[in-house]
Amino acid sequence: MIVRPEVKVERKAVKIDAASVARATFVAKRWRDDTLKTAQKLDCDSEAKQRLSEQLCETCYYLRKGGLAGAAVTQQPCGICHDLQTYGSTATHTLCMKCAKKYELCKRCGADIGFRERPKFTGASDNG
Ligand SMILES: [Zn+2]
Ligand SMILES: [Zn+2]
Repeated sequence: MIVRPEVKVERKAVKIDAASVARATFVAKRWRDDTLKTAQKLDCDSEAKQRLSEQLCETCYYLRKGGLAGAAVTQQPCGICHDLQTYGSTATHTLCMKCAKKYELCKRCGADIGFRERPKFTGASDNG
């Protein structure tokens, strides 16, 4: 985020009382618990079957799900075959399902699906 120096934001003090402390504690605790739960799932890849059926790496499946996305139908070509893909939001993927499966890559970010090193991967030039 770029903040221009001439823009000054003034915020009001937050009112702190028993109710605000209770509310903030509830939210903070739930966030902590959700993060731990997600980390446990990530640690043992407990949803591997579902994850692989969506052709996503562990990071995209467990950590990037439900991120913020603009509500606009967005088109982006696949990074390998350049077929135009259409998405229901601005959360687009790097590859089409066909190429992601063929090259064993994460459909969303393009990482190796099993986090193996692929120094010789040449992507599109493998394609014909
Ligand atoms: Zn493709
Ligand atoms: Zn990924």
